Amino acid sequence: KFDERVEIHSKDELGVLALSINHMSKQLSELDSMRRNFVANVSHELRSPLTSIQGYIDALLQGKGKDKQEEKNYLQIVQKETHRLSRLVNDLLEISRFDSQTALFNMDEFPLRSIIDRAMKSLRLQTAAKDLIITTNLTSDLPLCYGDEDRIEQVIYNLLDNAIRYSSDRGEILISAIPYDDDILVEITDFGQGIPSKDIPFIWDRFYRVDKARSRNEGGTGLGLAIVKEIIDLHGGKVMVESTPGEGSTFGFTLKQSGG
Ligand code: ADP
Repeated sequence: KFDERVEIHSKDELGVLALSINHMSKQLSELDSMRRNFVANVSHELRSPLTSIQGYIDALLQGKGKDKQEEKNYLQIVQKETHRLSRLVNDLLEISRFDSQTALFNMDEFPLRSIIDRAMKSLRLQTAAKDLIITTNLTSDLPLCYGDEDRIEQVIYNLLDNAIRYSSDRGEILISAIPYDDDILVEITDFGQGIPSKDIPFIWDRFYRVDKARSRNEGGTGLGLAIVKEIIDLHGGKVMVESTPGEGSTFGFTLKQSGG
């Protein structure tokens, strides 16, 4: 048990104490404003799909669809917005597990190839819809990784999902993995719209989007990269991004090698 009493021996020490209390109080009020901001963002994000769902269901109930085809279009919008809501709620649950430090990590060794294959399989419809070609380039003697397999699959899924969503039709996506000191470096490159350099420092922030309308329209929650960063941080790895507007982006992260 440590002694919490603070003994002041001089005016200088009092000055230092006053400064650090001032600093702490600033940090607390910053934290408080971050929390408020987060709640405001969440409410806004939940409200927009709900408003749209409500609007289209009302229109259907009032018989406003002029024929079967139009009614089907309304229902498709309702379906899309419901999916987005459900993704948003799942992402929020995951984020709150990280915040409350209740996220459980199942650490073990696993081959990277199998989770890349699984992520690609889960996204095959989106890949086919845009007629994209995904090429993987994994060194043949790639060591096993060490981490939570499901969460690393989620990292790859989120990055690949973005690469697909921000690519133009018939584009190409490259996934590579190489040993990197005691780590493994995984990179996902697309040749899509890219990110302006002024936005780069913020893209890992919760709900930050370069183009809000486009992200929402394509089902984005604005939380994908925040979750990626959180998972990789908790694995002791690093995330990185290089991007040129109009040319494309490379997102990368490092992961421990098994036994490394
Ligand atoms: P979202 O659900 O909006 O995609 P993310 O957290 O995954 O949220 O990404 C944050 C923002 O970063 C996106 O809205 C987009 O503006 C930008 N972004 C992410 N990945 C890419 C990419 N591969 N190419 C271009 N922009 C991207």
